[in-house]
Amino acid sequence: MAELILLALDESSTLALISRAFRAVGYKTAIAHNEAGVMKVMQESHPALVLVESSFHQEKSIGLIEKLLLEYPTLPIAFLATQNSPKLIQEALCAGVSAYLEPPLKTDEIVDAVKSSLKRARRIGDWVRQEVKHTTASLEKRISEMDILLTVGRDVTSNLDLDEVLKSVVSAAVKLTHAEEGSLLLLDEESNELYMRAGHNFEDGFVRSFRLPVTDTLAGQVIEMGEPLVLSKDSLLKIKTAYLVQALIYVPLRFKDRIIGVLGVDNRKHRLPFTDRDVLLISLLADYAAIAIENARLYQVSENERSKFETVLSNMDNALIILDEEERVQLINDVMCTALGIQPKEIYNKRIPEVILQSDFLSLLERKEDQKNQYHEINLDDDRVFNAQYTPIPGVGAAITMQDISYLKELNRLKDDFVHTVSHDLRSPLTAVLGYAELIERVGPINEMQKDFILRIHSSVKDITVLINDLLDLGRIEAGFDSRRETIHLGNILQYTLSNLEESIQKKKQALNLDIESDLPSMHGNPIRIRQLFDNLINNAIKYTPKGMEISIDLHLEGNQVIFKIVDQGAGIPPEDQPHIFEKFYRASNITASDAPSSGLGLAIVKTIVESHNGRIWVESTLGEGSTFFVVFPT
Ligand code: ADP
Repeated sequence: MAELILLALDESSTLALISRAFRAVGYKTAIAHNEAGVMKVMQESHPALVLVESSFHQEKSIGLIEKLLLEYPTLPIAFLATQNSPKLIQEALCAGVSAYLEPPLKTDEIVDAVKSSLKRARRIGDWVRQEVKHTTASLEKRISEMDILLTVGRDVTSNLDLDEVLKSVVSAAVKLTHAEEGSLLLLDEESNELYMRAGHNFEDGFVRSFRLPVTDTLAGQVIEMGEPLVLSKDSLLKIKTAYLVQALIYVPLRFKDRIIGVLGVDNRKHRLPFTDRDVLLISLLADYAAIAIENARLYQVSENERSKFETVLSNMDNALIILDEEERVQLINDVMCTALGIQPKEIYNKRIPEVILQSDFLSLLERKEDQKNQYHEINLDDDRVFNAQYTPIPGVGAAITMQDISYLKELNRLKDDFVHTVSHDLRSPLTAVLGYAELIERVGPINEMQKDFILRIHSSVKDITVLINDLLDLGRIEAGFDSRRETIHLGNILQYTLSNLEESIQKKKQALNLDIESDLPSMHGNPIRIRQLFDNLINNAIKYTPKGMEISIDLHLEGNQVIFKIVDQGAGIPPEDQPHIFEKFYRASNITASDAPSSGLGLAIVKTIVESHNGRIWVESTLGEGSTFFVVFPT
């Protein structure tokens, strides 16, 4: 097809002449009379060359040339100077014209200049096209390499099947380097041999039986040196006995500072050597393989840990449940499921109050703040009794553990029955002892020493009687035989108790601070037991507070509960004893029997009374400073 020459010349006789001359040698021509015309032809007809006359476009031809070359950098432009001006020529050359002509302008010279410009432009065009083709091909190759690497990378991070991942690494190595075979050899540290973990273009049997010593082998050399090995020689290379290759790459598989194996590709038939780029690609793939192997190892370690943890959980005797910070179930063992009669699947990730209805269990959660690590009894429908602890775990939530204490409860019940029977049976012989001791004086004269002994018998029998009465009381309240309830006024009972203890307080010269709220609401309760409760607590305060010190008693209403508080300046209770002082016969380690004769039953009775009135009791105490007992009754 004839090439188009755009003539940017002013209207003149030369224009027609030049146009005709071009057509005569086989070109087509187009004519533009202004800049807009030039641009229009450029866009619509893509001329092969533009001929610009210096006077064109009102002497702004250089500006037009610059504009054209900005938009079409490879466009050949021939410049016709209408006057002899070295400056103008220089400007045109600077703007980038490919040919220029000075007056006198001859048509055949113009045609020749255009022809040679076009020829050069064509050569440049061919070169550019070839370069583009070349670059495109190499870019396409890079993109396809990237694609393969990306796929392997994705496989490494998303696929947990190590066999598959390593197979894809080796296949990628073969594909990227256009090799004939590929293999991934791992080091068996025990035998100091390399075995094939994955292979490409090898028979399965060969892969399975492949073993290579580290010493005196090419792969072993890579393990020892930690550097890639690239070989292509005229003579055949021996990988192992009778296994010859023409060219090969081996790169080390490195994890941290350890070399765990070798990734390799080789050619057995073709002599074509591998390139540096091949080594780079294989090294990248070796990194992927090392990461995949390490990922698989870590996954296995965490799987083993998890399965160990699960075995421990399901084999432990204690019931366990782990909650997150919103009290949603995260983990539960079989013992807990059986105890609460639930299925793990039903409650996983659900909030406890939505899935567990057991009331004792729920009350443990309600009282978690003041029950940390303490005793909380859970009575199940099947008569089993568990002791539960709520333990907050920072950053996780909390753990609730429960132990079956049914057998301990049963033992306790047997012991209580026994104590109750024995106490009961002791009462009659004791009454006899007391009676006969009194009779001795009546039946004849006795000396002073005998009198003293009789007094001691009296006092001891009195102590035993108090103890027995305490035991029987406790048994009665615990057994629930003590259900008498009437309207009582705590303030009045407290005042009455205090009036009976006035003498003991005076004896020890102790100061008593009393603060009793005047119009406390009445409540339902057993007046005798409540008096016993006040009596025991105040008696303890007097007993354990040294002479001349202070005791403060406070009784007031707070919300819908009445709080009784007694503060003393006594010896205090060691922290390790505090959880136990409400148990029967328990005495704190800082008090010896001779300090204060006692049965160790007082607080056990107090606690049982408090609980039978739906109240709560606790102690706060600092050793050497004193103790405060709190009792809370619902109104
Ligand atoms: P006891 O008959 O021994 O007083 P309690 O059951 O009343 O028996 O008290 C149990 C133990 O608690 C006491 O032996 C004593 O160690 C400790 N205790 C009770 N009240 C006080 C107190 N106010 N100050 C110091 N220790 C006390």
